[in-house]
Amino acid sequence: MSSEDFDVAVVGAGAAGIAAALALRDAGLRCVVLEASGRLGGRAFTDTESLGAPFDRGAAWLHDADNNPLTPIALRQGFTLHEEPGRRRRDILLIGDRPATPEEKAAHDAAAEAWEAAAERRAAEGGPDIPLSDAVPRGGFWDATVEHWFGAIISGVEARCDSLRDYVATALVGRNPQVREGLGTLVARQAEGLDVALGTPVNVVRTGGPGGAVELEGPRGRVRARGCVVTVSTGVLAAGAIRFDPALPPAVLDAVARLPQGMVTKVALRAAGADRLDLPDFGRLGRRVEHDRDRPASWICWPFGRDHAIAYIGGEASRELAREGPGAADAFARAELARFFGPARVERAFRPGAAVTRWAEDPLFRGAYSHARVGHAGARAVLRDAAVADGRLRFAGEACHERYAGTVGGAWESGLRAARALAEALASGTGLHAGSKSAALPESKR
Ligand SMILES: Cc1cc2nc3c(=O)[nH]c(=O)nc-3n(C[C@H](O)[C@H](O)[C@H](O)COP(=O)(O)OP(=O)(O)OC[C@H]3O[C@@H](n4cnc5c(N)ncnc54)[C@H](O)[C@@H]3O)c2cc1C
Repeated sequence: MSSEDFDVAVVGAGAAGIAAALALRDAGLRCVVLEASGRLGGRAFTDTESLGAPFDRGAAWLHDADNNPLTPIALRQGFTLHEEPGRRRRDILLIGDRPATPEEKAAHDAAAEAWEAAAERRAAEGGPDIPLSDAVPRGGFWDATVEHWFGAIISGVEARCDSLRDYVATALVGRNPQVREGLGTLVARQAEGLDVALGTPVNVVRTGGPGGAVELEGPRGRVRARGCVVTVSTGVLAAGAIRFDPALPPAVLDAVARLPQGMVTKVALRAAGADRLDLPDFGRLGRRVEHDRDRPASWICWPFGRDHAIAYIGGEASRELAREGPGAADAFARAELARFFGPARVERAFRPGAAVTRWAEDPLFRGAYSHARVGHAGARAVLRDAAVADGRLRFAGEACHERYAGTVGGAWESGLRAARALAEALASGTGLHAGSKSAALPESKR
């Protein structure tokens, strides 16, 4: 890091940080992005090495594409969007060791509709917030399966630990295309032309500096700016990886604690030969939850015709596997797949080894995406509106979005919003020194 002055320092080069930096630059402010890791995009990360073709280790879908700020950007820049028909399509839905009949699949879909409708109805009734699991049907043939899907797999947390109000407020709707080149590629591309210092962790943010300046410190040195946007995950904030001096107000700390990170692990296997398990491209596999401790993986096979089969494992199962290490996740995924096709065929069809994501174990993320603890849906607005040190320190990121929390689009909009608020504070000169000089960070990368 250099000790040169900037108007704004942004901490983190994920979707929120990149969006904030673009908006600040457009507002004519001199901005630097300090990113701890050696790459751009944060939880939107397209891995082009592990599987020989793009593999989105984190975000893959442009949720609610018609209202997603990244959709028009993707289209304008020539990215290829692909949308699968049928939101709940399962090419094979397993009951025990046999595939569900079309009638049974229809009953599953009806149970999912009823589940979502019940949650919406209960939230609309008002009253105190309750666990999501208390608002939905229980005991029906498909209810535990549907709850596992919307809870552990989609939200990264079991429904009993999730706020009903927050779940309904942030529920995913609309079209959900994937990006052939990778959603991570799309996000990282937007940082072109920005001043980003990779490999530059921030450990201390001081807001009581001379002239109202913010000072950011890390092993690479110190940066001084008039304002700062912090975009690291609530998991990173809660772990205390960044020390704030003076300490953050209790309301902000409470909001962070009330928005923990849920967990989703992807395990990607690669085909050994031509056997595609009689599944189409984007083939989907799911199975019924058979008992209380049963936590099925959900599968997407051969995305974009590639030779990958990707297991999604969420919530507690994901955390347990994270503790046991990547070998355990690989074995779990193969055992899950063997339920559909038998162990011998799975062994023949796939190469040894797997690409296993490790978002919870990574100290730069500490989870997949946020949910609100029961009773605390309001925490998102608290973090979003927190204007620390006369508005010179703002927070942004997926957890700060009341509608699109847990998504790349939400993170992006949150970054724009924080940038606007900060630019206004700087323009009104709340205790800030004006002007800054031009400077180049060492090893500044795009
Ligand atoms: C497995 C998985 C699947 C997902 N699927 C989807 C999906 O299909 N669609 C969707 O829209 N969303 C999805 N998401 C969620 C989406 O990826 C996130 O909501 C979004 O990318 C978060 O962006 P952000 O900018 O808020 O945070 P981040 O991407 O976490 O960015 C924060 C940045 O801060 C950096 N950082 C951390 N600590 C420090 C420090 N001390 N100093 C400097 N830098 C630091 C990090 O390295 C990171 O680059 C998924 C996430 C995961 C993990």
